[in-house]
Amino acid sequence: MSDNCIFCKISKGEISSDKVYEDDKVFAFGDINPQSPVHIIIIPKKHISGLNAISEEDEIILGHIQIVASKIAKQFPEMDYGFRIVNNCGSDGGQTVFHIHYHLLGGRVFKWPPG
Ligand code: 5GP
Ligand code: ZN
Repeated sequence: MSDNCIFCKISKGEISSDKVYEDDKVFAFGDINPQSPVHIIIIPKKHISGLNAISEEDEIILGHIQIVASKIAKQFPEMDYGFRIVNNCGSDGGQTVFHIHYHLLGGRVFKWPPG
């Protein structure tokens, strides 16, 4: 837990969210400003500031997030034909909340390259 981290507070239930998944390591909730018909944020409960701050000890939790993302996607028919996972890292990557998170986006066709 990092004081003043909005995603730590969401995972602890101190700030309400539209929860879609929770286990001992991971929490997932709807994005407050969705960029697609389904837009879910998946976070580890452990506070890590970003993908540029991970260490070897985070391997299990980060691998687990992949499994969780796939499981969540299966619950939404909007993602039957695919989805996109995004991690924005650092200011150049467009990161605005500095608790590592993965965007799970679905329900429309995405373009490449991203903006
Ligand atoms: P980033 O820009 O860091 O990759 O993504 C942060 C995301 O968190 C944004 O898509 C933003 O809409 C979402 N977000 C920021 N604050 C809140 C909040 O209080 N509740 C929820 N549900 N999403 C939030
Ligand atoms: Zn945090």
